[in-house]
Amino acid sequence: MRIIFRDGTLLETSDSESCKSFSQTHPVLLEEIKNLGMKVKDNDTLAARIRRKFKIKNTTGYSLNALVDYADPIDIIEHLMIGSEGTLGFISEIVYTTVVEHPHKASALMIFPSMENACSAAAILKQEPVAAAEVMDRAALRSVEDKEGMPQYLKQLSATTTALLVETRAHTGEELRENINGIIRSLEGLATERPIEFTDKVVEYTKLWNIRKGLFPAVGAVRRIGTTVIIEDVAFPIKRLAEATLELQGLLAEYHYDEAIIFGHALEGNLHFVFTQDFSTAEEVERYRRFMDDICKMVVDQYDGSLKAEHGTGRNMAPYVEMEWGKDAYGLMQEIKKIFDPKNLLNPGIIINHNPFAHIENLKPLPTTNPIVDKCIECGFCETSCPSKDLTLTPRQRIVIQREISRLRTTRENPTRLKQLEEDYVYQGEQTCAVDGMCATTCPVAIDTGEHTKELRHNNTRDKQTQKWANWVAANFDRVADIARIGLRISHTAHILLGFRVIEKFARPARRLSGNRIPLWNRYMPRGVDAPAGNTVRHSAPLQVVYFPSCISRTMGPAKGDPDKEPLHEVTLRVLQKAGYDIIYPENISRLCCGTPFESKGLVEQADIKAAELEEALMKATSGGKLPVLCDTSPCLYRMRQVMNPALSLYEPVEFIHDLLMDKLTFAQLPRTVAIHNTCSSIKMELTDKFRTVAQACAQKVIVPEKVGCCGFAGDRGFTHPELNESALNELRPAVAQTCSAGYSNSRTCEIGLSLHSGLYYKSILYLVDECTKSA
Ligand code: SF4
Ligand code: SF4
Repeated sequence: MRIIFRDGTLLETSDSESCKSFSQTHPVLLEEIKNLGMKVKDNDTLAARIRRKFKIKNTTGYSLNALVDYADPIDIIEHLMIGSEGTLGFISEIVYTTVVEHPHKASALMIFPSMENACSAAAILKQEPVAAAEVMDRAALRSVEDKEGMPQYLKQLSATTTALLVETRAHTGEELRENINGIIRSLEGLATERPIEFTDKVVEYTKLWNIRKGLFPAVGAVRRIGTTVIIEDVAFPIKRLAEATLELQGLLAEYHYDEAIIFGHALEGNLHFVFTQDFSTAEEVERYRRFMDDICKMVVDQYDGSLKAEHGTGRNMAPYVEMEWGKDAYGLMQEIKKIFDPKNLLNPGIIINHNPFAHIENLKPLPTTNPIVDKCIECGFCETSCPSKDLTLTPRQRIVIQREISRLRTTRENPTRLKQLEEDYVYQGEQTCAVDGMCATTCPVAIDTGEHTKELRHNNTRDKQTQKWANWVAANFDRVADIARIGLRISHTAHILLGFRVIEKFARPARRLSGNRIPLWNRYMPRGVDAPAGNTVRHSAPLQVVYFPSCISRTMGPAKGDPDKEPLHEVTLRVLQKAGYDIIYPENISRLCCGTPFESKGLVEQADIKAAELEEALMKATSGGKLPVLCDTSPCLYRMRQVMNPALSLYEPVEFIHDLLMDKLTFAQLPRTVAIHNTCSSIKMELTDKFRTVAQACAQKVIVPEKVGCCGFAGDRGFTHPELNESALNELRPAVAQTCSAGYSNSRTCEIGLSLHSGLYYKSILYLVDECTKSA
């Protein structure tokens, strides 16, 4: 573990030199920690209480077990840091020992007639080879029973039904079967509402686990706007789990939390209960206070349980830490805080808080701002996937600021602050959002903050002048593409004549002088290419495909220096012909566009017009959807799938190659290491596995950089806001530059940014497929 202390000292617990140096610079701190450990070990009653408390999961207060389990003060510090929530120091790096990921798994959704039956089963299963047993009460099952893919029988279960979702794992198939038989035998004699059936099929057990995964979002999705979703986390001795759960259900009912659900990890006696709470009135806050008081009394006085089992103590549970642990143990925690942070500078008020009302004061309101984001519960699950997270804002932060803007507009309490927030949001929130929608892929309530950004952009483009310009572009799309081609050719020629250093030297100052209006040139700019003639050649081959080269691939070719010189549409044509396809182009191809470039700028009407034109042309070319359509650019295809007639079978390159070409071509794997980049649209269309399969058929080693997500290029935003692309790809170069010979993706504009920030030439996967295949 690498820890940074309040005075800036750094301690690497795995490095003996660092430990030695720390003991020289901080002898007093180490002495105090050591003495505290000895004091606890010498106090039999206190030591026994700590050991007993940690027999079940516990994260209330500090990890006092560190004081009884270890003698070396560095070991004690390391283990005290766990769960200390930044109140003792900052953990900047940690190495975990992880559990084994077994190759064979099976799951069963066991349905019991009552909570007592389910908890008796959990106590038995604790002795069996069971990796997980998730308990779900009737309300929890009811909250997801109408969702797509849920078993029909959920709706017919009795009022007291309780489910256990059980997983067993093994190294071999035979061991798995033995586990299953043993588990079923162990439960013989216990009443169930349905026979116990295990499945080892991934598709089937994934559906079962989706029930469990859907519980928290289900409450979030139905919460009244303005209320907060609260998830609590308690633990009881497993022998008394049934009794405790029934009591918990009773308290939730008594306080009229009618939407509340209970689920949890039965083997550990750990329950989560989720409910919604309005904090906007004094009566509601008082209801919450009384409920929390009663819950804590019940958990502590009746069961000697844990008020926090695996989540943090935070501010909400801080007033109850002493209640759970008692005076002596709480005194230890206060001493620990004092040793590490005598001036109470680190995360004050968290874990140790002398205010008994800390959990009901300074409550943040959740005002409405826009229906697209109003359901946000500010959990932060979306943050890691956002390309602007290290540059400006995360999706959660965007929503929080929008809520504050709406609140200030309503209350009018601080016009200066409101003006400042509105002005700052233009760049921080709107301009640096890539509108890629990756946030929706990890959000439990499926919020796409990019949609909200598009709406803001739409509002900003409603003026007459912008609409007039956008209508002209949409109506003269072929001419605009010609202008772009000329521009790219001029820049390509300048690149040849002057070299990239000269142009780069002038590009940045010129952009600065223009107030960042001129797009930033870079050495991987594509050259302009001729559009495909679009002549349909029918040989009446049994295989026919409608090929729609996107406007991007009709204008942008490879960059200077790329060993592949041909435009993508020519390479695509050759690959398709090798596989025996006749190619049909939609009519008037030079005027066609899916609408993505318009939509991302908020030009919704023009985007819809272009999409409708393209849809009509594709319906005609495919004779009403009878033939597959290939579009060579993944983000364009994604939009086409969203807005076009479902009768059309629409494919982007990876899926088309995987599903319709691989069996028609002979692959000769190249002795190379290549990188692949999954675009956001590929991820949303769940094509990442197919992409890897295709690439692995082509090259001996395929690298998918783990820490690289959305590239942030976002169509033309990589030219207008290159810092977004740069920030999003800051982990790319170290992951691929030394090992890979080239990079492959399926969106030309993304490939420009990927090339720039890796030093490799990124291009469409179709180039690689072309290089390593011949007709079967
Ligand atoms: S938008 Fe982000 S913070 Fe809000 S609910 Fe979704 S994941 Fe949580
Ligand atoms: S759309 Fe992309 S850039 Fe915008 S908030 Fe979501 S993840 Fe971040």
